[in-house]
Amino acid sequence: MHQHMAKTIHPVRDSFAEPAGLYRQARCPVALTGAGISVESGIPDFRSDTGLWRIFRPEEYATIEAFTGSPPKAWRLYRALGTGLIDKQPGPGHLALAELETANKLEGVITQNIDGLHSRAGSRKVLEVHGEHQHLHCLTCGFLRPFQSSDLEDGPPPACSQCGYPLKPNIVLFGEMVRQMPQIDELLARCDLLMVIGTSAQVYPVASFPYVVHHRGGLIYEFNTAPTPLTHSADFFFEGKAGASLPALAKVVLGTSWQGDKVTQ
Ligand code: NAD
Ligand code: ZN
Repeated sequence: MHQHMAKTIHPVRDSFAEPAGLYRQARCPVALTGAGISVESGIPDFRSDTGLWRIFRPEEYATIEAFTGSPPKAWRLYRALGTGLIDKQPGPGHLALAELETANKLEGVITQNIDGLHSRAGSRKVLEVHGEHQHLHCLTCGFLRPFQSSDLEDGPPPACSQCGYPLKPNIVLFGEMVRQMPQIDELLARCDLLMVIGTSAQVYPVASFPYVVHHRGGLIYEFNTAPTPLTHSADFFFEGKAGASLPALAKVVLGTSWQGDKVTQ
């Protein structure tokens, strides 16, 4: 049994030897990521003091009712979001996870993010619970096509070429079903170490995933700039930016096979 009180690890101040040693013994390490891992790539999370989520309050704009009620209004958010995703590159946190997977030290990434940066960083098993912003989808006939730059231009929402209904980014809005649950349940059933990275862990059902692992005796490694409701149940709390502490942990876990310092973005 492990004690139920997180041990805080600071990337500069503290040694990573203990969490890295336990990590090396884990049979099925998994990562669960949220908006925080992409903040260092220049994509704001809900809490950041940036304009986006102040102008477009998620409760007002990011709901399925907002889309069906007024596609043109909802598209003001989708265009602002899409414009903010252009040219964004994976950060050191995304790259460290991809490198752990390549070294067979990570079974997969469950992400709430819609920015596609895990795949861009080289992660292969990525379960996108809230969908992705790289395609447009028709709720009426199921048509799917890539997002294109002309979709960002002002004007009426892009229409489905098959049925004429307004298209919607292939993202999961509040009020819609999350995706990939069978694969996630399967992965969590095997997971004995879950890294919870850059998420306020408050949006269900994702918020319950750490407790599924914790209650089965698995280890919880939390990475965040500030404590969350999960922190007191975590085994280690890596305080600070994910882009500092994730590479620091991966470096010690991988030892001489660490390639991260050679990775160019
Ligand atoms: P959130 O905005 O509620 O929480 C982000 C968390 O990340 C906070 O706890 C914050 O303290 C932490 N954080 C901020 N910067 C960090 C850093 N550099 N390193 C580590 N932690 C950091 O995000 P959420 O919990 O993911 O929930 C918001 C929902 O909106 C999710 O569905 C999310 O994916 C979506 N969203 C996605 C994106 C994206 O795709 N990049 C951006 C904004 C919101
Ligand atoms: Zn259609």
